[in-house]
This record gives sequence, structure tokens and C-alpha cells, in this order.
Amino acid sequence: MAELGTAERPLRVAIIGSGPSGFYTAEHLHAEGPACVQVDMYDRLPTPFGLVRGGVAPDHQKVKSVTRVYDRIAAHPEFRFYGNVEFGRDLTHADLSAYYHAVVYAVGARTDRRLGIPGEHLPGSHSATEFVGWYNAHPDHRGLAFRLAEARRVVVVGNGNVAMDLARILASPPEALAGTDIADYALRALSESAVREVVVLGRRGPAQAAFTTKELREIGELPGVDVAVDPGEVALDPLSRTDVARRPDRARDRNLETLAGYAERPPAGTGRRIVLRFLVSPVEILGTERVEGLVVERNELYRAEDGALRPRPTEARETLDVGMVFRAIGYQGTPLPGVPFDPWAGRIPNAGGRVIDPGRGGDPLAGEYVVGWIKRGPQGIIGTNKPDSQETVDALLEDLAAGRLDKPAVPGRAVLESLLYERKRDYVSYEDWQLIDALERERGGEVGAPRLKFSRVEEMLHALGERKEELRRPGSGGPAPASSVAPSG
Ligand code: NAP
Repeated sequence: MAELGTAERPLRVAIIGSGPSGFYTAEHLHAEGPACVQVDMYDRLPTPFGLVRGGVAPDHQKVKSVTRVYDRIAAHPEFRFYGNVEFGRDLTHADLSAYYHAVVYAVGARTDRRLGIPGEHLPGSHSATEFVGWYNAHPDHRGLAFRLAEARRVVVVGNGNVAMDLARILASPPEALAGTDIADYALRALSESAVREVVVLGRRGPAQAAFTTKELREIGELPGVDVAVDPGEVALDPLSRTDVARRPDRARDRNLETLAGYAERPPAGTGRRIVLRFLVSPVEILGTERVEGLVVERNELYRAEDGALRPRPTEARETLDVGMVFRAIGYQGTPLPGVPFDPWAGRIPNAGGRVIDPGRGGDPLAGEYVVGWIKRGPQGIIGTNKPDSQETVDALLEDLAAGRLDKPAVPGRAVLESLLYERKRDYVSYEDWQLIDALERERGGEVGAPRLKFSRVEEMLHALGERKEELRRPGSGGPAPASSVAPSG
């Protein structure tokens, strides 16, 4: 039998998820793998790029230009994208084991952590995941409604970059968001928003905040928005002072300088403001039919056994009059059918990227790997996924070299595609996605935006079918690219 990874016997790898970690995995596999690695990337949405499309804030267009790198990775002759195909529904774990030598889970962290306080279920209490998905035209969140037209003051719980994104989008004057790729319905709703004050709550102090200085400075540069910080709350407590003196940390120190600057800044009185509060935790969301207020408790820091400074409640409480509460306290992974999952950590258990099943002795499962947030937890920026996927690909290639990926009969791509065609006729290829991309850019051009996203799966598939039909007409400039989506409706 020919060696695995040659043209006669390609190494077949499925990547589940098409965010940054999935793309960097494909890149490493093609750059460092054997002569012939066929990479098939799946996504449950017809559109690729995960959080780059559905998470990165619309006013961060430069960050999104990383998709050009992903286009280049997708241009490899042995790369295929199968969008609109859901793992566990359209293709199962057993299918992938039969059709691939290796599977890499790159599904990210789809849901969010909860505060676990009374009133969290009330209308007007939302997760950042919902709001971010909504303003980014994610089909899962497209149908949500937020009480933007009624709430003058809102709270964002959390001190990470997602909290900063939310504060910026909620406080920005609509002109600052027009000309971005924000969902059109979100721009309309934000244009009619009554929100004039966004209060961001950190449960620990300014020296422990998770946001980065760039994001912290950005809120101070928003046109027509004041940033207010109580000087008493940026003054460090004795334990934080000790840590700051002992442990150098440039990022932390630049945050502290920026916050001190905000504390001294006289308000311009422009009518919109972001208030940064520290050492406060929400304890109860008030209201009967909807959010009407938030009870917060003042915290103090103590040194835990591991040396970290943690918050603990004092008796001091206050009630904030607020119309909405957003929790931006971290994302959370969800289990995939047939794949081990650690519910406590919200991750697929793994050893350096090899999936392990603690219930079965903790040995690596042959041919199963994991990358990105579902591997290491919801931490890090886009670039963090490069070394992360490198580690996993190194493990995969080591297993290949040791003969651990060898299977007697893995059918070829044509067989897989005919199975897909039976199960999910309207799967979307990368060429299809490029047509959707072109359509979104054209729509955007009409309203002075980089793109106007489709936010419903049926809408994008329909538009794609029509565009392909147009391209098939004689004199249109060429045949439609190969794929399976027929015009509908
Ligand atoms: P994060 O950076 O982990 O921040 C989570 C925040 O929530 C922390 O301040 C944490 O406080 C707080 N928190 C957790 N549980 C809480 C609770 N029960 N009550 C009150 N506060 C609570 O997570 P993230 O903001 O979701 O961001 C995820 C990753 O994406 C990060 O690595 C981030 O840098 C990245 N990201 C980057 C950008 C960008 O580059 N512009 C934008 C968005 C996201 P403690 O520290 O006390 O736990």
C-alpha cells in the first residue's frame, strides 16, 4: 500500500469550524505536512471566519482584513470548504471517523458564562454573545430585540475586551458606526437608541482589569462621549500596590496611566458617557416585567492561596437605576455529540491538542484533535491561534509519522461529496462563499459601507442561487463555480 500522505493515498483531515484556529491549522498542515494532505473544512453557517465575521466589532475593520490571509490558505488546491453543514446533524462523529484519517475540532466557544444572580432571566438582561452576534448579523441572533429605545442607562458587567466592545458600540453616536459592516437593522436600532450612559463594572480593581490599553484608549477617543472614572476607584488598594511595585507589567501600567488620565479629565458634557467602575459585583437584577435596576455590592481584594488577588464582598451595597444589563464575563464552550467534553472547564479535554477521554483512562483518542478556544478556553486574540494550532498540527504529524493515523480504507473526497450531496444538497463551497462575499460588498457599496451582511441563511442561499443562475446565462462572463446550491424561491 502507498504511504499515507502521497498523491496515491492522501492524508484526509476534517476541520470542524472555520474561524482563525481552523484556518491556521489548515495552513500548518499544508506547509508542514506530507506531500498530499486533503483538508476539508466544515462550518454550520454558509459563511466562514467564525469570530472574525461574527465577533470582531464592526468599528474594527482593520482587524477583519486578516481574512485575506484565510483566502490565501483556502486557495491551496487541496483545501475544500463545506459550509452550511452541521457537525452532529448533517455529518456525525461516526461519519468523520469513516471518511477521514484525522479530525480537528475548531468550534470555538459558542455560548457565555452566567452570573447566577436573581433576575438574570428578566427581559433586558442579556449576554454579550447575543448582543455581539446581533450587531454582527449572525443568523443565530438576528431575531433578537434589545430595549435600546427605552433604556437611558445600561450596565456592562466584566472588564475584558468584550466589555469594551459593548461599551463602545452602545455609547457610540450612530455616525461613528455608519460606514462599517454593522448589521443594517442594528444600525437602525442604535440610531434610535435612548442609551446615554454605559456603566462598566469590574469585580476587581483597575490593576487586575483584563482589557488591553488600546481598547481602553479607544473609548476615550469616541466623538461626543465622556469617559468617567471615580478617582477613589482608581486609587490602588494596598495589596494591588504591593503587586504593582513587585511585578513589572507594562500593559497593566499603561492601563493604570490611562485610567488615571480619565479620572482627571473634566467632562465635556456631550450627553453620552461611559462610566468605569471597579471593585463592584452585581448581586441582583431588579424588576418584575423587565430590568429596572441592579443591586451591586462593593468588593475588597484578598490574596488567595495561589497568590492571585481575588474579590470578596463587603456589606456595602447600592442600587443602580438601569434599563438593561449585559454580562460580558467570558465565553463558554458547548459539547459536540460524540466528543469528550469537560463541562467544568467548558473545553474538549486534551493533551497538547490530542483529544483525551478522561472517562476511558485519559489516553489520546486516535485521530482526534482540537484547536482554539474549545482547546484552551476563551482567551487570547486572533494571533494566539497560530502557535496554538501549530502545537496541535505538530502532534498530528507526529502521530502520522508513528503510523497512528493509518486506517485500512478511507474513501476519497468524491465519495464524501456524494454523501454530502445526499444529506445536505445546499452545502456551500469556498467559491460559493466568494460569490456571497461579492454580493455583500456590492450591497455595501450602495450604502457606503464595506459590506452589507446577509443575516439569514435562506436569504444568502437564495441570493447565491440567483447569482449563480445569472453567471450561467450565456454572455455572463463565465460558468458558475462548481457547488451545489441551486436557485431557490
Ligand atoms: P476576558 O478577557 O476573560 O474578561 C472577562 C472579564 O469578566 C474579566 O474582567 C473577569 O474578571 C470578568 N468576570 C468573570 N466572571 C465574572 C463575574 N461572575 N462577575 C463579574 N465579572 C466577571 O473575556 P472576554 O472579554 O470575553 O474576552 C475573551 C478574549 O477575547 C480575551 O482574550 C480578549 O482579549 C479577546 N478579545 C479581544 C478583542 C480585541 O482585541 N479588541 C476584542 C474582544 C475580545 P476577573 O478578571 O476578575 O475574572
